[in-house]
Amino acid sequence: MLLALKRFWGYDQFLPNQLEAIRANCTGRDALVVLPTGGGKSMCYQLPAVCTGKAVVVSPLISLMQDQVVALRQVGISAAFLNSSLSAEEAGNVMRDWRAGRLKLLYIAPERLVMSGFLGFLESNPPVFFAVDEAHCISQWGHDFRPEYRMLRTVRERFPDTPMCALTATAGEQVRRDVIDQLALHDPAIIIGDFDRPNLHYRVERRSDRNAQVEEVLKAHAGKSGIVYCISRKDTESVASHLTSRGFRAAAYHAGLDHEVRREVQQAFSNEELDAVVATVAFGMGIDRSNVRFVIHAGLPGSIEHYQQETGRAGRDGLPAECVLLYSAADVMMRRRLIENNEDTPDEERAARLFKLNEMARFASTIRCRHQTLVEYFGQTWRKESCGNCDVCSGDMVSSVLPDGNVVVQKILSCVARLKEGYGAGYLISVLRGQTQDVQPVHCGLSTFGLLGEYPLRLLRGWIDECIGQMLLERTTDAYPVLRITAEGWRVMRGEKSAYLSAPVSSSRGRRSEGDGERIRRHKRHAEVDMTPETLTLFEALRLMRAAIAKKKRVPAYVVLHDAALLGIAVKRPHSLEELEQVPGIGEAKLRQYGKMILGVVAQEEE
Ligand code: ADP
Ligand code: ZN
Repeated sequence: MLLALKRFWGYDQFLPNQLEAIRANCTGRDALVVLPTGGGKSMCYQLPAVCTGKAVVVSPLISLMQDQVVALRQVGISAAFLNSSLSAEEAGNVMRDWRAGRLKLLYIAPERLVMSGFLGFLESNPPVFFAVDEAHCISQWGHDFRPEYRMLRTVRERFPDTPMCALTATAGEQVRRDVIDQLALHDPAIIIGDFDRPNLHYRVERRSDRNAQVEEVLKAHAGKSGIVYCISRKDTESVASHLTSRGFRAAAYHAGLDHEVRREVQQAFSNEELDAVVATVAFGMGIDRSNVRFVIHAGLPGSIEHYQQETGRAGRDGLPAECVLLYSAADVMMRRRLIENNEDTPDEERAARLFKLNEMARFASTIRCRHQTLVEYFGQTWRKESCGNCDVCSGDMVSSVLPDGNVVVQKILSCVARLKEGYGAGYLISVLRGQTQDVQPVHCGLSTFGLLGEYPLRLLRGWIDECIGQMLLERTTDAYPVLRITAEGWRVMRGEKSAYLSAPVSSSRGRRSEGDGERIRRHKRHAEVDMTPETLTLFEALRLMRAAIAKKKRVPAYVVLHDAALLGIAVKRPHSLEELEQVPGIGEAKLRQYGKMILGVVAQEEE
């Protein structure tokens, strides 16, 4: 196994949990592999397929299959895919190759795999095992349910003795159980990786000026690239055009664009011709680039699963990368409304989505280590003291949370209670601020009258929105909407649960007064590898070489060589092919194809 790992991929050792998963696949045991994005899931089935024979890989997206197949062929492994993008003749060729045993891996879309004709074909030319990628798509509890995945059950029925390996990056308890049930995995080896991504620096900022904040992050990562996620299509367009006007190479990407345009944007991003793609969630599944240096959420994701998956696209090469979430309570309300107004969603699913949204909002408004919060959300225990790599632990939170927010929330809620849940936000604020002229005499005697008189109206309005966002209060939807306390809200009142509010942005200490330079340095601190100037020069020269190769071969740059491999070369400065082969990420095929060229670049830099 190690020999193959070195020979094809150029790696000397397995990543955590890979060997366990590989062993299950090689010994014919069913397996459920849950590893975070970037954890090296593909290797768990690719290596066994190379060593033991041939495997069928179920994958949900055409672009994902294509990227994998291109990358495999680059390292000298025969692989192909079957999906709707192929002509009948091309598909016929693939099937002929499979029959003749010329393919180690066959990627296929689920709906195609379950066609009875195809299953019949496979019966006479069976794989050694099946791998089901993105297995969470089978579960309604996941965040990306795909009905066609449900049909995979028939594969199990037709091939009861062929081992099956399900892989996913996001699976809470419920999803895991669902995957095992739906695929009828038999006594599977369950391999759950470490969900922490220590190289990612998480930061949450109060959103005040979206475009300026996004631009700031891009400035700190000059020459590198990343993804900006927005909630709406309109936002993607507006952020992208702002960035373009400021001299960045940026493009919008959303499901409303022409298929062709989307393909071009994706391609340009893969080829490192863009500094940023500004996208809705539609972007990403097919992005295999490992040197994404930042992911910005300009709007709040709908769940922590989404957040983890989207931020997970940063730093897959293991090098430092930054994840910035621009938080505004207004997003929580907007998303809530979207969920509540969607008539087609069954009640149960709606409740699940609201719950997930709430957890996401909580993540954004807590003063707890971000790494710890994420890891615990995915059901793991956090063993470290402090991560040292999030805004909370490194003590440079920009969006501070109000120190006694919980008490303020309790005051707001009890005022709603005293008003017998019969009034709207405007009136509530008048009472809390003690505005005698606007309040009915009967309410001037309430114990909550004037209780928050020291805070300005705007701030109170924002806090009430945050209470709604955290689902402590709800607004009725009739002609005269009034505020009601939710079950969660009552728990906060009883002290069974605590709530958070964001602190006002003070003009003396606020982010605006900090100065551009300092903010950019802060972003940079978490984004850059320490490189000597010589290493950096060589690294840049290697990147140029890689870009030229990628262009010529018409493949994405990361397919040629990963950033981590380039960095390894820049640090080691090899002078012979033997020395070069020691660099992680340089396998036989890469050595043969690019070895001389790399040595040439190193030599040239040293002249
Ligand atoms: P996932 O599908 O889990 O998100 P990938 O399979 O895309 O992750 O792998 C992420 C990165 O890790 C890829 O660049 C891959 O080449 C690299 N990788 C996989 N296995 C190893 C290994 N044993 N050593 C070093 N890098 C590895
Ligand atoms: Zn931390």
